[in-house]
Amino acid sequence: MANDFEDRIARVGATLSSDLGAAKVHLGGPGYEDARKRIYNAGIDFAPRLVVTPESAADVRAAVLATTEHDVTLSVLGGGHDWSGRSVRGDVVVDLTRMQQVLIDGDIAVVGGGATIARLAQAAEPHGLAAATGSTGSVGVAGLTLGGGYGPFTGRIGMALDNLLGAEVVLADGRVVSTDADNEPDLLWALRGGGGNFGVVTAMRIRLHTIPSVSAGTIAFPFDQAVGVLNRYGALVERYPDELTETLGFMQGPDGGVLVVLLHAWSGAESEDARVLDLVAGLGDPVLVQVSRQSPAQMLREAEEMLAVTKSKLLTRTVTVSELSTETIEIMAEAMKQRPSPLSYIGMHPFHGAPERIPLESTAFGIRQRHIMIGIFAMWTDDADDENRAWADATLAALRPHALQSAYPNYFGNDRPEQAAVAYGPNADRLLRLKARYDPTGVFAAISLP
Ligand SMILES: Cc1cc2nc3c(=O)[nH]c(=O)nc-3n(C[C@H](O)[C@H](O)[C@H](O)COP(=O)(O)OP(=O)(O)OC[C@H]3O[C@@H](n4cnc5c(N)ncnc54)[C@H](O)[C@@H]3O)c2cc1C
Repeated sequence: MANDFEDRIARVGATLSSDLGAAKVHLGGPGYEDARKRIYNAGIDFAPRLVVTPESAADVRAAVLATTEHDVTLSVLGGGHDWSGRSVRGDVVVDLTRMQQVLIDGDIAVVGGGATIARLAQAAEPHGLAAATGSTGSVGVAGLTLGGGYGPFTGRIGMALDNLLGAEVVLADGRVVSTDADNEPDLLWALRGGGGNFGVVTAMRIRLHTIPSVSAGTIAFPFDQAVGVLNRYGALVERYPDELTETLGFMQGPDGGVLVVLLHAWSGAESEDARVLDLVAGLGDPVLVQVSRQSPAQMLREAEEMLAVTKSKLLTRTVTVSELSTETIEIMAEAMKQRPSPLSYIGMHPFHGAPERIPLESTAFGIRQRHIMIGIFAMWTDDADDENRAWADATLAALRPHALQSAYPNYFGNDRPEQAAVAYGPNADRLLRLKARYDPTGVFAAISLP
C-alpha cells in the first residue's frame, strides 16, 4: 500500500515535471523549503510530499488533473496564514507564490491568486485607491477574501468578500472558468464566504475605493480601564458606523503588562481627524496615542510591525457577539490574566455600517447583523501545547453563552464541527448544493463547511 502511494506521488512528479518543467516541481530543495517556511504558524508539522509552483491557470490545471488522476490529495497555499495549516495538509501543495501580480484597471484590481494584501495595497496606493483588506499585510488576498475579510475599512466599504466582483477558477474537473455576476453567478456566490472549497482561484477582480489616506495608528489604554473603554466604544460606533473602524484587542504592552489596544482607522473627512481622535482617545486615559494621516498601504505596514511577534505556535478560537457587554469584557480580561503564554492575545473586529446593508442571501457569508467578531489567539514557543490549547478552549467556553450562533469560518478550525454546522445560517443548504455541483468528489478541502 505504502509503495503504491510512493508510486503515485512519483508519477504525479514525473507528469508535472514533463508538463510544467522541472523548475516548478519540488520534491525537496529550496522551492519546497520556501513553501514550508511561509506558514505563519510554527506549530504546523504537515509534511507535503511535493510542492508545485505554477505560473498560470494552465499550470494549475495540470496540477489539479495530475493529483486527481493519481488519487493523491491536494491543498492550495496562498499567504500561509491559516492557523490550522489547511493550505499545506495535502500530499501535493499548489503554492501560488509565483502568481502574485496585481494590475489596476480603473477602480478594479486584477489580483493573482497568490498575492498578499500588502501587494494589493501598494499597487492601489499611487491611484489614491484602497481595497477592503484585513489589518495585516502578509495575509493572502484569496484566503482572506474567500472566507470573509474583516479589516480597517469594513464599516465604509464592507468585507473583502463584498468587493470580490469576479474570479478565474480552476475547477476539480480541470475546467478553467470565469465567474462574475453574469457568468457562473452561483460560483461567485459560493466563493464569497465559502472559502477555497470550490476550486483554485487563479485571479480575482476586486473593487477598489477612493481612499487616498486615512487617519490611522495605535491608541492604548491601561488594562484596568478595559470595561469603561470598551463599553463607551459601543456608544461611539453608533455615531460613526461607516467611516470609523477600530480593531480592538487585549495585548501585551512593551513593559510586559496587558493593554487595551485600538488600531484606529478613520477614513472620513481629514478636517474631522482631530475631533474623532479626541473622541476615541477620550474613551479612557490612554498611555499611548500614535496616530497620523497616512496611506492605507502605510497603515498596513505599521500594523504588521506592531503585530510582529516571535515565530510561535498558534491556535485560534472564535466567537461572535452582538455587542461588548460588561460580562463579555470581564471574561476576556480575566482570560488575559490567566493566559499561560504572554504572547497570547484576544482581538476583536467590529462589523457595522456598509456590510450590514447587504442582504444575507446575496453572498454565502452567514451573518449580516451588527456584531463584534472575537479571535482568541493562543501563541506560545515552548512545549506546553496542552496548556495553551486548554486556555483557548476555556476562554471560548466562557464566552459561548454570550455569543451569537454564527462564527467566523476563517478562524474556527476543522476541530469545531458544531461551529461549522451553524456558521452559514440559512445559506448553508445552497452552499452545500454548490459544493456538490462544483467539487462532487471533494478535491478541495479548505475552511469547514456545515
Ligand atoms: C497574523 C494574522 C492576521 C490576520 N488578520 C486578519 C484580519 O485582519 N481580518 C480577517 O478577516 N482575517 C485575518 N486573519 C485570518 C486570515 O484572513 C485567514 O487565515 C486566511 O484564510 C489566510 O489566508 P492566506 O492566503 O494567508 O492563508 P493560506 O493558509 O495560504 O490559505 C488559507 C485557506 O485558503 C485557501 N486558499 C488560499 N489561496 C487560495 C486560492 N487562490 N484559491 C483557492 N483556495 C485558496 C487555502 O487552501 C486555505 O484553505 C489573520 C490571520 C493571521 C494569522
